[in-house]
Amino acid sequence: MQVTRKTFDEVMVPNYAPSDIIPVRGLGSRIWDQQGREYLDFACGIAVTGLGHCHPKLVAALTDQAGKLWHLSNVMTNEPALKLASKLVELTFADRVFFCNSGAEANEAAFKLARKHAAIKYGAHKNQIISFFNAFHGRTLFTVSVGGQAKYTQGFEPLPGGITHLPFNDLAALEAAVGEQTCAVVLEPIQGEGGILPATPEFLALARKLCDRVGALLIFDEVQTGNGRSGTLYAYQQMGVTPDVLTTAKGLGGGFPIGAMLATQEAAASLAFGTHGSTYGGNALACAVALAALEEVSSPAILQNVAARSAQLRESLGKLASEYRITTGSRGIGLLIGVPLADAWKGRAKDIVNAAMRHGLWTLVAGPDVLRLAPPLNISEADVAEGLRRLELALADLAKAA
Ligand SMILES: *Cc1c(COP(=O)(O)O)cnc(C)c1O
Repeated sequence: MQVTRKTFDEVMVPNYAPSDIIPVRGLGSRIWDQQGREYLDFACGIAVTGLGHCHPKLVAALTDQAGKLWHLSNVMTNEPALKLASKLVELTFADRVFFCNSGAEANEAAFKLARKHAAIKYGAHKNQIISFFNAFHGRTLFTVSVGGQAKYTQGFEPLPGGITHLPFNDLAALEAAVGEQTCAVVLEPIQGEGGILPATPEFLALARKLCDRVGALLIFDEVQTGNGRSGTLYAYQQMGVTPDVLTTAKGLGGGFPIGAMLATQEAAASLAFGTHGSTYGGNALACAVALAALEEVSSPAILQNVAARSAQLRESLGKLASEYRITTGSRGIGLLIGVPLADAWKGRAKDIVNAAMRHGLWTLVAGPDVLRLAPPLNISEADVAEGLRRLELALADLAKAA
């Protein structure tokens, strides 16, 4: 059966508008489409395939586990899940782990945990979740409601209540809002979908202090920043503030769907037997692949490469900004880089993505005004240079057409 981009419009729900290009094969930092055209991948399936495509260690972990055992449910535990959880506990602040299949589910678990924890310890009045405008926490009804982008909740009302949105990095607003009624403050250490906007150190420190004062849980959504992308295994590890609960997914499975919520023993104790669950959570195939990915992305070699390639990219992005005046330098952390557009180009991030695609480079947007680069964590210096060359060709095209 021949399938083309047209097939999408004929058989798929129209909630996505995918590119005309249909990749059929990937290896390392490259993918190839149905016509055999090659693309460099600076998108990683939205910061997911952190070790590139078909990494030999992940292929080996997947195929090895595929011949042994796939799925049991949580009626029985399994070795890959226990090994992965042990490794996560060893490498982070966390004492306990809950597995699920996506970022939204990890956040759903964290928000439910926060409500339950406060209800048990303090009473039902303590149910306010504080989150921030432009935050993104997933697409379930609870997670879009906690997220700070109205376009994702419109038409889905009535929404869950007890959620307060504040401006990000606004110390006074946070200080004023957190009170005895607050059960959790949830934030992305670097807002990803919202434009690659880092939280300030003062803001993180204040959030920690206020949560401690009122007995609220500090939840870091590291779905996008986690698993080596920031240059440390999790971004909090270089930010001087430790959360009570951390959610992650995206890069955790290197392309195999898996999510996790990490928590202190004290917080985790509130999700007692029977209070929450997931049929697929802790699936043996997913956990086997994620363990192999985690061993790799937590290695000094990979983390050093993230720092070196980040510096390489950011230096060149600075040069491209002064040369073409379409972009204005870069921001972000590690290999999660935002390239804000100059005023005259605001709203046209997608045009840059499309122009880059014509030159064989896959990039992303983070909102209409920011180009987002999220290449593999193990990308070579030569591949970064080649990607930058293709990006420059795209910028030159746009400059010429302007
Ligand atoms: C992508 C993302 C999510 C949602 O993850 P899904 O796997 O799509 O459910 C949640 N939070 C952040 C910060 C994300 O970047």
